[in-house]
Amino acid sequence: MAETDQTPRLAGPLNRETLDNLRSVLTLCWKSFEFYRLRFEESGVSLLDINADDPITTLQKLALIEPADLGHLSREVATTAEGIVDVETSSGTTGQRKVRYMTYEDDQREHEFLAELWAVAGVGPEDRVACLDTDPVNLMVSIAKAFDLLGVAEAYCLSAGANFNRTVQTIENLAPTVLVSVPSIIERYMSKAPWTQSDHGRPPFSKVIYIGESMPSTTRRTLENAGVEVFGYYGASETSALGIECSAHEGIHVIQSRNIFELLPNRVDPTLREAVVTTLNQRAQPLLRYRLGDQVKLLPEPCPCGIPDPRLIVLGKPDEFISVLGSKIGYGSLKTSVYRNADEVGPLQVAISRTTIEVLDLILPDTIKRIEKEVLESVVSAEPDLAFLLDSGFLKLSVTFVDPGHFFSDRKFKPIIDHRG
Ligand SMILES: [Zn+2]
Repeated sequence: MAETDQTPRLAGPLNRETLDNLRSVLTLCWKSFEFYRLRFEESGVSLLDINADDPITTLQKLALIEPADLGHLSREVATTAEGIVDVETSSGTTGQRKVRYMTYEDDQREHEFLAELWAVAGVGPEDRVACLDTDPVNLMVSIAKAFDLLGVAEAYCLSAGANFNRTVQTIENLAPTVLVSVPSIIERYMSKAPWTQSDHGRPPFSKVIYIGESMPSTTRRTLENAGVEVFGYYGASETSALGIECSAHEGIHVIQSRNIFELLPNRVDPTLREAVVTTLNQRAQPLLRYRLGDQVKLLPEPCPCGIPDPRLIVLGKPDEFISVLGSKIGYGSLKTSVYRNADEVGPLQVAISRTTIEVLDLILPDTIKRIEKEVLESVVSAEPDLAFLLDSGFLKLSVTFVDPGHFFSDRKFKPIIDHRG
């Protein structure tokens, strides 16, 4: 097939059980949701077709759901659905608030799935798991519950307060074997942890699972050099859990028995695909062919870990990474690097333009002007691709300091501004 073909392809083959599950989700959608019945009708799909035809053929007749359509669905769910026990909302960096309703069974399936993912990361009955966040509500509680379901020795949530010295001491005392956290918090913890101060220092834990953001490669390297195995978790607020990195440490396995992935070719960049998701886990608010927006690369080779589910390199939403001359630099990891030497993580805007070469401008509040040198050093050391482009003269890196009001005055604040046209 030509690269310009816009037909979504399945990320990998599906087994009989998954296909049966898909058929039952399609039937549920037809019977219980006006939102979906209209979509089926528009595509000329009857309940009879759902029962008789191959479920993938039926699914792929439906139009994709855009994030902007999500409000219609969640409003219908709010007024008609029974047995809703939980609701998750997200603000996101752009667009409207996303709302996801869950029944008790949805919640249970979610915990089972998370437990399955922790098992992929090799977590087992001997492990003691610390889930560290600034405000460990919602997601972290679910995550800790799933470790309990897996049957680990212990799993608990820790709140990382403003005083990181105390957090470091708590982790030393509790000596978890697995640490689950967000990369920016892991960085803050590492900046104070005693084991990072010497070449042979070892943390109490031997595994880190990170969630929520991309991890700067320097952070990963520091952890790996200290004997820690690092696993990236993949999820989205609209769908919850999607996948996890395995012991091969190349890409994320998306588990197709829980969510079916279709990959849409990217019109601008033929090396990338766009993820489209159909959820099999969520019965209160199922998603059929939801355009997640994440840009991914499919690793076609079978994984040495033996898991048959497809492996993706997940780059994130277009506003989550910057593409410079073929290199993809994560906005989240850039932000973490910028604020590595600051007292707290603040705002960042990235402007990219092209003169004779590419120019990457970091727009930052003038409150951190005094650490400009450290900011630049930290960014370059954290992003080897960026360092290479700078060294070879393909890229210029600059910093512009502005009044902090700049980041809050504009309601449509864009984290990345691309002037290259
Ligand atoms: Zn694998």
